[in-house]
Amino acid sequence: MDIPDHLMDGDVMDTTEVHETTINMDPFVLDMRSPVAQTKHQKLSNGDRVAHSRSPSFRQEIMTTTAKPALEQLPYSTSQTGLVYDVRMRFHVEVRPEVNQGVHPEDPRRIYAIYKELVDAGLVDDPSTVSLAPSVLARIPTRFVTKQEVCAVHSERHWEFVISLELWDNEDLHNGGSQMDSIYLSKNSPMCARLSAGGAIEACRGILNEHVKNAIAVIRPPGHHAEHDEPMGFCLFNNVPIAVKACQNEFKDTCRKVLILDWDVHHGNGVQQAFYNDPNVLYISLHVHQGGKFYPAGPKGDHLHCGEGPGLGKNINIPWRTAGMTDADYVLAFQKIVMPIAQDFDPDLVVVSAGFDAAEGDMLGKCHVSPAGYAHMTHMLMSLADGKVAVCLEGGYNLRSIAVSALAVTRTLMGEPPGRLATTIPTPSGVDSIEEVLRQQAKYWPCLYPKDPSKRIKQTEGERIHDIVREYQAGWLWENLGMSDLFIAHSKTSRSFTNQVLATSNHSESRPLLVIFHDPPDLVGTPDPRTQRLELHNTWLTDSVKQYIRWAYDRGFAVIDVNVPKHLTDLEETHEHAEEIDGKKTIDETQLLAKYLWDNYIELSESKHIFMLGIGKAYTSIVNFLKENDRCRERLTKVIGFISDECTLPSYKSTTDDFLDRWYRDASKIFVATGHYVWEKHKFKPPGKKWGTLQRSDYNDMQEMLSHHCKEVTGILTVLTDDWEPEAAPVVGASEEET
Ligand SMILES: [Zn+2]
Repeated sequence: MDIPDHLMDGDVMDTTEVHETTINMDPFVLDMRSPVAQTKHQKLSNGDRVAHSRSPSFRQEIMTTTAKPALEQLPYSTSQTGLVYDVRMRFHVEVRPEVNQGVHPEDPRRIYAIYKELVDAGLVDDPSTVSLAPSVLARIPTRFVTKQEVCAVHSERHWEFVISLELWDNEDLHNGGSQMDSIYLSKNSPMCARLSAGGAIEACRGILNEHVKNAIAVIRPPGHHAEHDEPMGFCLFNNVPIAVKACQNEFKDTCRKVLILDWDVHHGNGVQQAFYNDPNVLYISLHVHQGGKFYPAGPKGDHLHCGEGPGLGKNINIPWRTAGMTDADYVLAFQKIVMPIAQDFDPDLVVVSAGFDAAEGDMLGKCHVSPAGYAHMTHMLMSLADGKVAVCLEGGYNLRSIAVSALAVTRTLMGEPPGRLATTIPTPSGVDSIEEVLRQQAKYWPCLYPKDPSKRIKQTEGERIHDIVREYQAGWLWENLGMSDLFIAHSKTSRSFTNQVLATSNHSESRPLLVIFHDPPDLVGTPDPRTQRLELHNTWLTDSVKQYIRWAYDRGFAVIDVNVPKHLTDLEETHEHAEEIDGKKTIDETQLLAKYLWDNYIELSESKHIFMLGIGKAYTSIVNFLKENDRCRERLTKVIGFISDECTLPSYKSTTDDFLDRWYRDASKIFVATGHYVWEKHKFKPPGKKWGTLQRSDYNDMQEMLSHHCKEVTGILTVLTDDWEPEAAPVVGASEEET
């Protein structure tokens, strides 16, 4: 064998280890310390062998405890967890490592790091340590995968190609690998790839033969990117699909339906391809997708790829829109999607494509899954298929992260409860991704109902409530206050711009002008407990902004009311679920609208008292607008903001004008939710001038804040306009009619 020097470290190249893993077609190694193993041993054929011996004292202890069993032991709790690890899988290495590029991420030391962690934890019967666990891992020797097993997933051409590599010279291996998609090749690649796939098969066989209750296969090269006819993404043979096909073939009655759960941070394109039209293999992958930008790039990992033909609905992609996912995101995806579907599918075997590159510390994945997070996922999967779970290593490139994650998974497989989770609050992006998958998969899985209602809504020509509500508001403001639509030029046409800006007809007169930017009002209601439907008679529209408009109107102010829609209804209505416009885009567009209103209406008005009231994100738009349009400051009397706990607080500072933040402090009054992070941040030192004049509200909810502080705000406006006589201004017709 052509073994590079750096792999010849003594602790790994232990001769007993190599001896133990020599090829054996019915390869099961028993641990004699386990009482179950002792009884099993008697039942097993002569071909099975005992791998090791233990210190006499330990054996005596076991002998005495097992001498007179009071009760028959539970088979599940007392059988062992299997471990596949073979040092020879470290020999697949780069023939000519690129200078200055450091070690390739698919580092041969990966599997040793995990093995060593298990040894150090006392879970492996290794001569170098004293075992701490009452029942150590049962070693399952790996073996070479056969051509027939590989060709159940790959083309014959692909098999021939991989096998031929042992005859290539180093020059060809280097060049050949560099022409492929994220692949390096070596003379030992065929051996390692065959052992890796063989190890995955033996882990599953060990479980299905009831030699072990579950198993972890610490194998490399990984497999889930390898396609039918092409190696890619560090993968040569697709280990998990090869194992699944081999087991379905061998255990026809007991292994018919298989769940492959892929928590590697990358999409397992090869696994998806292998079973895309297969109704008996449910593939669920959680991976970073970033709209198709993350490896392996393209649309195949999106939520719309659900399988085809008889396999439709049996392919479930949970594509994260961003990196940075946490335990809480993964646990939520398990609770809402993975477990309901998996329980419905009811598999005979669960195989985990277990990459640990979503782990905290992995530079490729940039996510934050903790060892406890992996343990919880494992624990949930163990409730399926009578606990028959085979965990097969895929990616994972931080040696420490993969070691501690794999250890946590192994402990859980062995029966230890998962550790506590540091966070249970999912990220907003994670929640969005999960909801998107739920809507898609509800087409195929009744456990995820309610179904997407878009078809029904389309047939009945349904209209979006946000448009209807604005229409109602416009009607009320017209009838009661004589306010009407102000012309605004928009580059895009949308029904949501109708009535977007409403104004009293006196908006250009010499009277105080209040310009309000706000979100649409809130709908509040509790769904019917039986049908979960939101019934109109139990649903309220809360619109605290109305109090401000009413007060200003009664006081004789001119009012411009701007509604900032959360969604723009297309003229070609699709009736599908609409996401809120991206926050940054809303802020930018509202800023442009503020500029348009200023240039076309506010600046032309004769008013000497101009007030701007920004609610939520719209307040940031106003501040951004003021920063870029200095001349407006002279005419602005006061800017009032409402910041709920979900909004960021904008600052106002200029690198050129030192007095700017002082002006801002004097000109602003900002009500900030009691739970806003700014209060925590400034617990010991009050916020500086650049944040404006802040006032902590007793509330977090925007409608409650608006309602509670209405008197305070109107009080401020009254004081600031006491030099103005309301009687001096003409009163609008509509109000006369009403009063
Ligand atoms: Zn990966």
